Amino acid sequence: MVPPPVGAEEKGKKDPEGPVIVRVLLPLPLGDGYDYLLSSPLSAPKGSFVRVPLGRKTDVIGIVWGEGEGGIPLHKMRPVAEVLDVAPLPADSRRFVDWVAGYTLAHRGAVLKMVFGGAFRPLKAKDRIEEAPLPCGCAPPPPVLTAEQQAAASALVRMVDGGFSGVTLLDGVTGSGKTEVYGAAIARALERGKQVLLLLPEIAMTVALAARLEKLLGVAPVLWHSALTERQRRLNWHAIANGAARFILGARSALFLPFKNLGLIVADEEHEGSYKQEEGVIYHGRDMAVVRGHLGGVPVILASATPSLETLYNVDKGKYGHVVLKKRFGEAVLPDIRLVDLRAEKMPAQSFISDPLMESLEQTLGSGQQAMLFLNRRGYAPLTLCRACGYRLACPSCTSWMIEHKRTGRLHCHQCGHNIAPPEVCPVCGAADRFAACGPGVERIAEEVAARLPAARVAIMASDTVADMAAARSLIERVESHEVDLLIGTQMMAKGYHFPLLTTVGVIDADLGLAGGDPRAAERTFQLLQQVAGRSGRADARGRVYVQTANPDHPVMRALAHGARDAFMKAEMRERQDHRLPPFGRLASITLVGADREHVAAAARALAAAAPQGKGLRVLGPAPAPFALLRGKLRYRLMVQAGREGQLSGVIGSWLARVRVPRAVRVQVDIDPYSFL
Ligand code: ADP
Ligand code: ZN
Repeated sequence: MVPPPVGAEEKGKKDPEGPVIVRVLLPLPLGDGYDYLLSSPLSAPKGSFVRVPLGRKTDVIGIVWGEGEGGIPLHKMRPVAEVLDVAPLPADSRRFVDWVAGYTLAHRGAVLKMVFGGAFRPLKAKDRIEEAPLPCGCAPPPPVLTAEQQAAASALVRMVDGGFSGVTLLDGVTGSGKTEVYGAAIARALERGKQVLLLLPEIAMTVALAARLEKLLGVAPVLWHSALTERQRRLNWHAIANGAARFILGARSALFLPFKNLGLIVADEEHEGSYKQEEGVIYHGRDMAVVRGHLGGVPVILASATPSLETLYNVDKGKYGHVVLKKRFGEAVLPDIRLVDLRAEKMPAQSFISDPLMESLEQTLGSGQQAMLFLNRRGYAPLTLCRACGYRLACPSCTSWMIEHKRTGRLHCHQCGHNIAPPEVCPVCGAADRFAACGPGVERIAEEVAARLPAARVAIMASDTVADMAAARSLIERVESHEVDLLIGTQMMAKGYHFPLLTTVGVIDADLGLAGGDPRAAERTFQLLQQVAGRSGRADARGRVYVQTANPDHPVMRALAHGARDAFMKAEMRERQDHRLPPFGRLASITLVGADREHVAAAARALAAAAPQGKGLRVLGPAPAPFALLRGKLRYRLMVQAGREGQLSGVIGSWLARVRVPRAVRVQVDIDPYSFL
């Protein structure tokens, strides 16, 4: 305990500078923090980083969040041990924590943990934070923008100069040079001495973009993502907090960093579903970027070739600005997209590449260009069944089939990672050697290519074949230097990459994403396939895209073939409006998870019985979730549908507070869900 300052009593007042009670928020999922005594001479304004005791621990770092709430006798209250020599967390960062916790119904402390980047790491004596060099005279001259790019860039630069919050959609076709255009806004913000945060939906993309941005802007971005080492994490965090780091490139978690002087946020590929964090604090990185901008008075740019319906809706309403790039840069034109009707193609069994696509591949590789085949399925075959009795090999712990992988020679559950050697006999009927692999994964496509185009140099790009960022980088370099003729990949390679020699793209099964109960299925399929198509013909030779589908009349397929994005999105918009789905209404999903079916089902029924009533409010379920069993746990789901107005989070928060759920059942709330599994 810190002794009272000498002479404090002599002033004759009743301890005016004596201990005050402060509320300290700890980076733990524990609620709203605890009261501590702060005795002079310690002083700690709101936002100060403090070391406090907690239970038996003496080294917990938290943040002074406000005045204490009292209610505990003074002599029982524990003292703040130390005020750290770290700049206090700025008010806009604190407001953001409060807002995100209120909205997502997560513990405030769990959100604070993200501000700490997992755990607070004090600087070590040997650490040196260096000011990142800013664009200097030695930086390469900025690119000469086309007239269309220049107009777009000027609009974005004006936003930065205005210096207040506001959101602008940078809506540019694939290959239009969106990076160059938002690069101009980034350069301006840096020039004005501000920090800039550029967000990407996936860390694999940060590697390729970091190098490109450094060339473009003459500043190496400071990175923030889950693959940093401890040391990089510590140095980068402090550099961001004290303002030395000016240009930050990161994944969604970077939004929570304690920026000293943020002046611009850019979220690239804003339509990407992978902006959604599905575990821990469940939030959407793009939406929270908009909130962060709003709370901090910071302009936000959302960039995409296939903007989300939510964002287009906000543009329609006049809430977001809209800056458009209609043309590809240089001589490149948009690719020619053709549908291949799988019902009409007579493809032999175990063959998945149609004749028109195969002919185009031959021709493309024959003329020294590259091709890409897209299939959003890892492994060899998505299903293995016994031909004698029809039994399908399933994971014992998940509602999921066991998926054959040739690379490992085993069958894997993609949900929990459980894997087994291929069984010799059917576990149900005992038949030997009667297993059949059904359907293709990327490995099976590679096998077909090897048989039919034996000279082609093939590489597979999927999350299991490209294990880390170094592997991703080296594969990209091999494609860039034309050591690969044909790239076969999952959604991992759908976006962002720029391979000038790539002209033909084949989509093996365009219908894959359309099934299931996801209200965004059509929108997402359109976006994904449009992005995949956008990898082709990015230089001089025109791209050709073959989309294999059994539903050529589906609105998604027709829109792709006719380049009719806006009409498609309009039709989707009407559809959502008719069903009061987002963005016209709001959704929240509540998932109950536990080991015991009866407990989970009973808790779900109890919740449903106490469901809130209100205008426009509807609670559907409970019903078993599509993944009714996941990692050995049972899952029940309630879905809340509400109007656009009103405090959905608040309503759900007080509902959940009214119902006692046994400890063995976990309640997971997802406001604005993007996953319906
Ligand atoms: P998008 O992100 O819109 O798909 P990119 O930013 O990848 O497009 O741009 C496509 C290609 O065109 C990139 O290689 C990019 O460097 C190049 N490019 C775009 N605009 C310019 C420009 N004004 N000057 C030089 N190269 C440009
Ligand atoms: Zn499993």
